[in-house]
Amino acid sequence: MRRPSGAAAVASEVGTAALEGSLRPASPVEPPDLPDCPAVKPARRLLPAVAFALLAAACATGERPTLVPGSTLPDGDAAPVVEVEAEATEATTTTTVPDSLPVTDEGFPDVPTEGRVRGLITPTGVVVEVLEDLGDRYEVRTPCGETALLRWGTPLYGAHVMIDPGHGGDIETGAVGDAGTVEAELNLEVALSIAAEMRSRGLVVVLSRHGDYRVPIVSRAQLADALDVDAVISLHHNAPNPGPSDEPGTEIYVQDGRAQARRLGGLIYREVTNTLARADVSWVGAGDAGVLSVVNSEGEDAYGIVRRPAALSVIIEFGYLSNPSEEELFNSETYADDMGTAVADAVERWFLTDDGGTGFVDVPRVFNPGGTGGLNGCVDPPLERIGDEPDTDG
Ligand SMILES: [Zn+2]
Repeated sequence: MRRPSGAAAVASEVGTAALEGSLRPASPVEPPDLPDCPAVKPARRLLPAVAFALLAAACATGERPTLVPGSTLPDGDAAPVVEVEAEATEATTTTTVPDSLPVTDEGFPDVPTEGRVRGLITPTGVVVEVLEDLGDRYEVRTPCGETALLRWGTPLYGAHVMIDPGHGGDIETGAVGDAGTVEAELNLEVALSIAAEMRSRGLVVVLSRHGDYRVPIVSRAQLADALDVDAVISLHHNAPNPGPSDEPGTEIYVQDGRAQARRLGGLIYREVTNTLARADVSWVGAGDAGVLSVVNSEGEDAYGIVRRPAALSVIIEFGYLSNPSEEELFNSETYADDMGTAVADAVERWFLTDDGGTGFVDVPRVFNPGGTGGLNGCVDPPLERIGDEPDTDG
């Protein structure tokens, strides 16, 4: 099943209604209230219709639109690279439950819905970290790590989870399938589905990007920290093919030595692979596929989005975009929704139970990513548009 590429697909699915309206000005004018959900005028340039559709969708459900990405420090940090480590050592897959966590029968933890504004969804749909509330302006950090003064946007006070669609922008497309599927777009489509499903269950979710633009890894991590999320879940589709496999080659990279990240990974692995396995697909997979740590020669978590955030963080490599049989599945009508349900099931279970999941690989993979996720050549997307004005009627 062919679908329009990423952003366009999402926008058309969500619809473009409700994009009219005014933006909320910076603070003195009281914190945004939910009933009058702030909407946004359609952007003129690249940024996505997706962002607006998202905001509109969130508004439609009466939920505060919450999303995220952030900003930066130069360090040429590596983006999660999709190549499979060729020299991965043999490892045993076990179903051991890592140390269990306190069960929270009380429901999801509280997330602030007012108070300090930690982030902002700009009028163009870009999520930025708020460095300082200056009264009539917000000083923010842009995706490329610059500071900027913004007058309006949708305020963010915190979130349970940051969903991070890997890659984005002209330079960093991620993997590209034989049929032309671009990983960055596929990741975003799945991210939107996951976020929608999680929100329907009461979780507060932010996205690190809503469109096809560059967000360096360091910025994604800073945004997660700024919004004080409990978990970061980074989404990817793998390449190149490691060889045939009887089962989905799903890989979940978790922080080394952090039991709760490992447990989250195990729960996601179980739900995702159980769902994928129902499809009639010729899978490929690495010998050590499963829930594992990937460490560099220094013994640190190799991938920046796993290593950098203070929050618990995992990367999901759902499968192999480089495998035509899997690419076809990823382009099917139900794929994004199925993954949305699977990941939301796992995350809900992570918050509310002490279940441990499956697929744990005991031996870390050693890998030193090259990386295109740094700040070099980073170009910020438009954050505001000329002519934007705050409501005059308050
Ligand atoms: Zn990727």
